[in-house]
Amino acid sequence: MPELPEAETVAHQLREKVRGAVILNSWIGRDDIVREGLSSLAWYRGARLVTASRLGKSVVLHAEKDSETRFLIFELGMTGLLFFEAPDSTYLKHIHVALTLSGSVPSLYYWNPRRFGRVYLLDQTGLERFAARRFGHDPLEVTWTEFRDLVGSRRGRLKALLMHQQVIAGIGNIYANEILYRSRLHPDRIAGKLPTRTVRRLFDTMRAVLNEAIIDGGSSVRDFLAPDGTRGEYRKRHLVYNKAGLPCPVCGHTIRRLMAERSSFVCLSCQPPGKRLRRSGAGANGEKTPSREKNLP
Ligand SMILES: [Zn+2]
Repeated sequence: MPELPEAETVAHQLREKVRGAVILNSWIGRDDIVREGLSSLAWYRGARLVTASRLGKSVVLHAEKDSETRFLIFELGMTGLLFFEAPDSTYLKHIHVALTLSGSVPSLYYWNPRRFGRVYLLDQTGLERFAARRFGHDPLEVTWTEFRDLVGSRRGRLKALLMHQQVIAGIGNIYANEILYRSRLHPDRIAGKLPTRTVRRLFDTMRAVLNEAIIDGGSSVRDFLAPDGTRGEYRKRHLVYNKAGLPCPVCGHTIRRLMAERSSFVCLSCQPPGKRLRRSGAGANGEKTPSREKNLP
């Protein structure tokens, strides 16, 4: 579940705590966790960590040695976390990578209870290829003009677009729901049919929600913890995510849960479906079937 704000929180803590540390040793629990670059593992011993950054929902450590820079990319995926120390013994079981470091933080652990946790060890060219292949525009760096053109050119459903990592990288189900609600847009609206002023509202809201969430250290839903073991507080500010059955904070109508590829939480009064959807009940332009409303028990 970590999304952009959570990955940014992880990268921020790594920059604060491990910048300047030297990798004294590395341990990989299972070779298949390293999806690319396992043969370069020995290079990292003795390398200095110079900074950390975020790519979509992944976290990148930058290591330097002999005037060369290489990267360790940790995919957070649905459940991946990085820790300065294991919060308690139950976490030890699913630690796949451990880096022993010099300096004030003795170790860095990559934890993922699912087998498909992924780590990549890449050089500069490898990183560029990796980023180009997997990540679209960053929602906090994309310009208004780029965003307007991008949304205007897509014929698919708005929520699917926001979550399409090769188009816009970093937004998952939680933030897509919050952004759409605050933009007063139904998830099944067709991206390319929105008026420019509405796209502008979406653009501004997207940036505001993500920036607020970063300030709050992300959202601890299920098991997100920052590397220092603290929880993200943005969950307290969620307005619709996981709030089916509760009243809309704006108009009081009941928040509904729609089932599509992932759960959508909407207030149908604040986020009315588009005209075509209302009339026909079917997706426009041959897109995927729109969300079916699911009544709560
Ligand atoms: Zn409402």
